[in-house]
Amino acid sequence: MCKVIAICNQKGGVSKTTTTVNLGVGLVREGKKVLVIDADPQGNLSQSLGIMNPDELDVALPDIMEQIIMDKDVDVTEGIVQHEEGLDLMPCNINLSGVDVSLVNAMSREFVLKTYVESVRESYDYILIDCMPSLGMITVNSLTAADSVLIPVQAAYLPVKGLEQLITTICRVKKHLNPSIRFEGILISMLNARTNYANDIMELINEYYRDSIPIFESKIPFSVKASETSAAGVSIFSLDKKHPVAKAYEELTKEVIAHE
Ligand code: ADP
Ligand code: MG
Repeated sequence: MCKVIAICNQKGGVSKTTTTVNLGVGLVREGKKVLVIDADPQGNLSQSLGIMNPDELDVALPDIMEQIIMDKDVDVTEGIVQHEEGLDLMPCNINLSGVDVSLVNAMSREFVLKTYVESVRESYDYILIDCMPSLGMITVNSLTAADSVLIPVQAAYLPVKGLEQLITTICRVKKHLNPSIRFEGILISMLNARTNYANDIMELINEYYRDSIPIFESKIPFSVKASETSAAGVSIFSLDKKHPVAKAYEELTKEVIAHE
């Protein structure tokens, strides 16, 4: 059985892409078959996995989505890139902004990415979708394609308050497009040990969302090392598997697997 997890938050810089890479590789290290999908026109996930110029790719997610919009059959291996750490990647580039526009007049416009995901689903144990920082049609497509949503939040007061809009969108998607979507959980990331906001943030999240959204036990510490990985085109495991950030992502991976 394959589980599709959208990694989503309309705020930029909260570690969506970093989490997609490291949870993805974490799952591979646990013996799972994993596809990560870059659903952001900025192509940061593609770059973080070593594709320096995603705009020059012959085939990327926007091309596949255009084919689906035009009712053409999709070759399920087309465009997929194999990463050295054992992940499969469906890369993305700036053309996704154009797809956003073509979706306006497309039939079943919220289901285009889902059509792709369903066609590759049987080849994987996990598919992770790295969402773009907006709540527009591409993100609605990502949420419609997903079984669950993982929400990374930066350990700070304001980003936590900003979750309401995201949660409203997820609830609308659940009501109208994808009744079975669930919350995988909120992931507190970029936690600074010196300020140790963790408890305050968790109290705040509990206060706002009560028992409706689980919070992962694992929290990702702030570390410059985490940002060095994207430049190197590899995961934190490859750079230093004993690093606290690697340990934290390893724990997160186990929690995700335990959810099933
Ligand atoms: P998003 O995809 O939500 O925009 P990114 O994953 O690109 O967020 O992260 C934003 C920036 O923060 C990047 O430069 C990234 O390398 C850095 N970063 C991510 N996780 C951490 C962390 N745990 N500690 C320090 N920096 C981090
Ligand atoms: Mg990103």
